[in-house]
Amino acid sequence: MSQDHEGQRPGHDGGQRGSAELYDPETDPLATYVLEPEDVATLLRRVVASPGAQAHTSHAPFTGAPIAAVPLSTPDDVARAARSARAAQRLWSARSVRERAAVLSRVHDLVLARQSDVLDLLQLETGKARVSAFEEVADIALVARHYAARARRYLAPRRVLGTVPGLTDVRVLRHPVGVVGIIAPWNFPLTLTLGDVLPALVAGNAVLLRPDPQTALTALWAAELLEDAGLPPGVLQVVVGDGPTVGAGVVEHVDHVSFTGSTRTGRAVAASAGDKLVPATLELGGKNAMYVADDVDVETAAEGAVRAAFVGAGQVCVSIERIYVHRDVRDDFLEAFARRTRDLRLGAGLDYRSDVGSLTSAAQLATVVEHVEDAIGLGARVLAGGVHRSDLGPWFYEPTVLVDVSPHGRLFREETFGPVVAVYPVASDDEAVAAMNDTEFGLNASIWTRDARRGAALARRVHAGTVNVNEGYVATWGSVGAPQGGWGASGIGVRHGREGLWETTRLQSVAVQHGAHGALGLPPFGLRRLFELGTDVWPQVYTELLRVMKAARLP
Ligand code: NAD
Repeated sequence: MSQDHEGQRPGHDGGQRGSAELYDPETDPLATYVLEPEDVATLLRRVVASPGAQAHTSHAPFTGAPIAAVPLSTPDDVARAARSARAAQRLWSARSVRERAAVLSRVHDLVLARQSDVLDLLQLETGKARVSAFEEVADIALVARHYAARARRYLAPRRVLGTVPGLTDVRVLRHPVGVVGIIAPWNFPLTLTLGDVLPALVAGNAVLLRPDPQTALTALWAAELLEDAGLPPGVLQVVVGDGPTVGAGVVEHVDHVSFTGSTRTGRAVAASAGDKLVPATLELGGKNAMYVADDVDVETAAEGAVRAAFVGAGQVCVSIERIYVHRDVRDDFLEAFARRTRDLRLGAGLDYRSDVGSLTSAAQLATVVEHVEDAIGLGARVLAGGVHRSDLGPWFYEPTVLVDVSPHGRLFREETFGPVVAVYPVASDDEAVAAMNDTEFGLNASIWTRDARRGAALARRVHAGTVNVNEGYVATWGSVGAPQGGWGASGIGVRHGREGLWETTRLQSVAVQHGAHGALGLPPFGLRRLFELGTDVWPQVYTELLRVMKAARLP
């Protein structure tokens, strides 16, 4: 059985790993000293909410202590915020891309300079280890730098061949859609808010942002940072409230929806966006797989597997939940993987002393416990973890490695979204690929082999939007010039790269037909001349012209 810390299994030392000390919520007012009350009040004033609004109290996962009472927006507030955003967007989109990109460039510098503030906030609101929180800071710096440098090129008009080459001058333009609605979950409060806000803004859009109520302070901090970086007031509006009212309300008022969350909610958002004929980018769940081939150095693969599986306590959309290991290296890999997992330092604290933090909510803990107990009930064996560590904080759960997991259990197919990995043996590359693809999801995958060519060839056979060879997820995620998105039940559309920027633009083709009125002293020689040949002649002339164009290899 999965256990509470009271009932340690043999081999558990019953305390925090490594050098970190036991965390005592009674003596450490973690949840209150990080932010001055007046700073919190200043941030909360950024929420578009009416006077006397109801409030949502968020709680610090490290302690369960309350963090802040966040005012809740009503549907009317959402409508008001959307109107303000729409008004501000006109002036914002009139600025040059260069000016808009300069704001992103300053965001890059500010987020690095102010990282310790936001790292505290991220840890406070999510309970993640500081090292996992830093990934969000690094991500924002990468995204801001990339789009600051590339937006002009990505948004530049494109010339294409006209219908009458030489006479039809065609340019394809990208316009901002107008107001982009961003609905974000709680697991990456900076990356999944600011990281999506930045490309939408540089494309000339205004943004109506609805962060998860649990992680609203981080989003409000990001809004403040953006204004300090030069974003005019009003271009980014933040509303807070539950998903079914305020989240769904956002969809009502915007020209594009960017939603990140579970597949179940994603389907509901897609349905209402479809009803409104508003395009939607959906970044949804996963059941990400890793393959460890027979030629690996097992310590290297195990180190990568530990990072890929337990970052953010496994509450990362791209983290690994299934590992297929070639039977020739299975025993050695399992020994190294379980050992390294047990060595992880689990704990609270606003410093870098822990490797893994807490789950973010009681609901997440309940899912994790349920999946593990269900698997154990069906015959799974625990090689590491499987323990709820309530001695460290209310929702801590030890990084867990399971083998002999039954295909009939929930853990086998469903996303756990926690620090739990199932390891399965395979006999060949083909069997590994088939097993990896045996899922409705297709978000991220990882392949480990000494032979880079073999890895790249296998990667092409895996059904997933991103595949990392000899890395878990950082290689694709950090390569912000490359699109990142899910296949199948993992979503529609992408973030990152030029394709990510293009999600919040709409296309316009402008064709200028020359010669209609004559030019250079010549009489009109536009398409009219062709049609004046008469319907018995011009189709034949045009047929010849089409043949000539093909012979001339015109595209
Ligand atoms: P969730 O779907 O329960 O909620 C996501 C957000 O949507 C929440 O803030 C929620 O309040 C809101 N919401 C709920 N109902 C809504 C509605 N009808 N309309 C609009 N918004 C609504 O997911 P969660 O548990 O908060 O987040 C974890 C999930 O997010 C996991 O499945 C994870 O894989 C996924 N995720 C995906 C990515 C990605 O890039 N693919 C990234 C991070 C997380």
